[in-house]
Amino acid sequence: MTESPIEADSEIEVFNPADAAVIARIPVDSAATVRAKVANLRAHQRDWEDLGPRGREVWLRAFQDWILDNESRIADVLQSETGKTRADAVVEAPAVADLIKYWSGHARRYLADTRARPHSPLFAIKALSTNYRPYPVVGVITPWNFPFAAPAMDTIPALAAGAAVLVKPSEVTPLSAIELVKGWREIGAPPVFDLAIGRGDTGAAVTDQVDFVQFTGSTRTGRRIAVRCAERLIPCSLELGGKDPALVLADADIDRAVNGITWGGMVNSGQVCTSVERVYVETPVYDEFVGKLVAKVDSLRQGKDGKDFRFDIGAMATPAQRDLVARHIDDAVAGGARVLTGGTPRGGFYEPTVLVDVDHTMACIREETFGPTLPVIEVADEAEAIRLANDSEFALSASVWTRDTARGLRVARRIEAGAVNVNDVMANAFCVAVPMGGWKQSGMGARFGGRAGILKYCRAQAITAPRLPAPSDEVMWYPSTRLGAGLATAVMRATAARGLRRIGLRAPRRG
Ligand code: NAD
Repeated sequence: MTESPIEADSEIEVFNPADAAVIARIPVDSAATVRAKVANLRAHQRDWEDLGPRGREVWLRAFQDWILDNESRIADVLQSETGKTRADAVVEAPAVADLIKYWSGHARRYLADTRARPHSPLFAIKALSTNYRPYPVVGVITPWNFPFAAPAMDTIPALAAGAAVLVKPSEVTPLSAIELVKGWREIGAPPVFDLAIGRGDTGAAVTDQVDFVQFTGSTRTGRRIAVRCAERLIPCSLELGGKDPALVLADADIDRAVNGITWGGMVNSGQVCTSVERVYVETPVYDEFVGKLVAKVDSLRQGKDGKDFRFDIGAMATPAQRDLVARHIDDAVAGGARVLTGGTPRGGFYEPTVLVDVDHTMACIREETFGPTLPVIEVADEAEAIRLANDSEFALSASVWTRDTARGLRVARRIEAGAVNVNDVMANAFCVAVPMGGWKQSGMGARFGGRAGILKYCRAQAITAPRLPAPSDEVMWYPSTRLGAGLATAVMRATAARGLRRIGLRAPRRG
């Protein structure tokens, strides 16, 4: 296997994007270091698996306590490397503690062997079961928008399943993931959770070594990882970009729609895969909605936050991300769109922006913006809203706003997206009992989804065993005879055939 070339002794500079101050320099892991880390994880994984769900739960619960005990410091760290507001920063640690409670508490039931009845009388004497055994080493590769929660949310179910995990956090925000692994070490847990620091080439080195890749990031990188995983014949699960539509129907509670869509488009400076990125509003309520939306967005406070919750909107995570947002807005304005509020970059920030008079060919509608922008389009009716919502290569999630829940549910079933929230935004991403995954270019596979969320990290192993003392020979074993083959096929025919003639009990009609 060829190793990815990684510049020896290179390091990563970590910035606070709110004031461009350099806050840390972290050495990059070479491909050889990644290989050694995976070998070490592999060496300890079997003991971790053998602890069983109950034994693993003890460590996971201790980790849950550590996270809650260090909640404020974790928020400081992730705020320092993202420029988030305090309100955006404080949710990540408790959200992870909540996930640990869920996965560790349910693992025993979800991982239990399943039994099945033989489908044919030929196997009536067999006891059939399926065991679930973890992929030994799972690689978790993550982006920068939730630097503590993103590495944790996929690591926890993998650890609960009995896998060892190597996280490769974004090069933009490695400090929060370093805290996460530090916590695991501080509680004295078995060495089955480690970190690989670096850029894309370190991520490629991880993909080259692990047994399963759980990736969250852009569609472009996800495709490259899928190709590499296909070459290695290992599975991957891809959580990719989005361009989530919000459909505001004429019977919506407009105040709730405005408040929800403003939050859904602006939270974390719009840098959420499930951000609202396109809004379709039925004509009868278009003017009222746009008026109230502009007033709401206008009222948002933006700036470099401390610990005192002074601001609603923080910085963009990188200058490149700010420039991408600016490009989408400038391109839209050049094409005839109007900015009703915002529309300007300020240092490491981009102003919360509402755009109207946009059309479906513009970059702000076709590409992922990942910024605090809300382009709004007027539609004639529900059918047009659905048609335009589905006119995208992305299909991560969507929202429908109506006072008629039955109508909301009916519209939801016609939207092409991995999740639809009725009268809410992003709610599914916090509900681990249902899957969070994208369709089309937004992903392959899903995280969460109750039992499926932990079984995805397992290989299913079928076990058959005799229920009665077994004879010394079987009818199909050697030597081959007409009688043996005839008996076996007669039973198969009897179970598969429809009608006496096919069973072979009545002679076929002639002529
Ligand atoms: P990115 O694809 O640039 O990078 C993501 C991670 O992949 C980083 O750690 C990066 O170092 C690594 N990487 C880059 N090249 C690699 C390679 N060849 N092999 C292995 N790893 C490689 O994404 P980003 O800019 O960090 O994050 C923003 C994107 O993430 C957006 O598109 C957003 O929608 C998406 N995202 C999706 C979800 C979801 O659940 N669907 C959640 C959050 C973010």
